[in-house]
Amino acid sequence: MCEQCSVADEDRPDARISRRTLIAGLGLGAAVAGATVFASPASAATLKNGAWCNPALGYFPSGGHYGASRPGGAHAGQDVTNSTGTAIYAASAGTVVRRQWGGGLGGRTGYAIVIAHGNGVYTYYGHLSVYRVALNQRVSTGQRIADMGASGNVTGPHLHFETHTGGLGSTVNPVTYLAARGVDLGGGWSRLDPGARGARVRTIQYLMNQRGYGLVVDGYYGSVSVSAVKRFQSARGLVADGQVGPATWPKLVYSLSAGANGNHVRALQTALNKHSAGLAVDGDFGSVTNSAVRAYQSANRLVVDGNAGAITWRALVG
Ligand SMILES: [Zn+2]
Repeated sequence: MCEQCSVADEDRPDARISRRTLIAGLGLGAAVAGATVFASPASAATLKNGAWCNPALGYFPSGGHYGASRPGGAHAGQDVTNSTGTAIYAASAGTVVRRQWGGGLGGRTGYAIVIAHGNGVYTYYGHLSVYRVALNQRVSTGQRIADMGASGNVTGPHLHFETHTGGLGSTVNPVTYLAARGVDLGGGWSRLDPGARGARVRTIQYLMNQRGYGLVVDGYYGSVSVSAVKRFQSARGLVADGQVGPATWPKLVYSLSAGANGNHVRALQTALNKHSAGLAVDGDFGSVTNSAVRAYQSANRLVVDGNAGAITWRALVG
């Protein structure tokens, strides 16, 4: 975990709690204000809209939680531990606004990246070993941006991950922030609600088409796709709520290996491409796709066997 990651201006526990609560409120307000097409409180559910994903696979080390006591303040992020070289992905689309030691923020250490997501929302990735994007580069959700490392003042390799809302420097708990957006920080199946968009929706649509649903693969989880998923859920004895989450994903994915061909392979290729694989989505699980699966498994510290089973899928769509 981090020895020195701290927030210099948040040194009194009482002030920290009240400010954090205020910031959380501002963050929600900004998110709702930005989503002008939604008018009702039910729009909160649409935060699970595919815009966010897991920045790294790993586990939470003891004492690495948000708000943990640190010299000079409180721990400003959540630590995710894995080995040096583990892939770090952009948690959401945005622009790389910092790529420097400490991210240009007081109290942080190590090689760091800050991504601006708009509406005053930023994410911070610290203790990196390798940068894989340039300053001012636009990045997409799930794009590989760096490798995990142990730069700065640490006891071992890990990602120090922060979420800022209401401006750079105003941190909120990354675990709860991401959970509200359908992401299980550190690893786990994602949750996508009706209205979601993006690569994971195309993945779902391809998987559904392999099962004969005949959906248009447009990356929009609208009424036609939702209705089809509800029918699939009913047929599998699941709650037919239209949310593709930890109960539905395992029944939706296929265990795939070299030689497979079809829409389920297109789903796999689409999911790999979300993480910078750059594959042609041709439905052919040939040597190129096999290499991409192995590279992804290696970069995420999974068993490297070239087969896409449930654990690999969970990481891919998380
Ligand atoms: Zn940390």
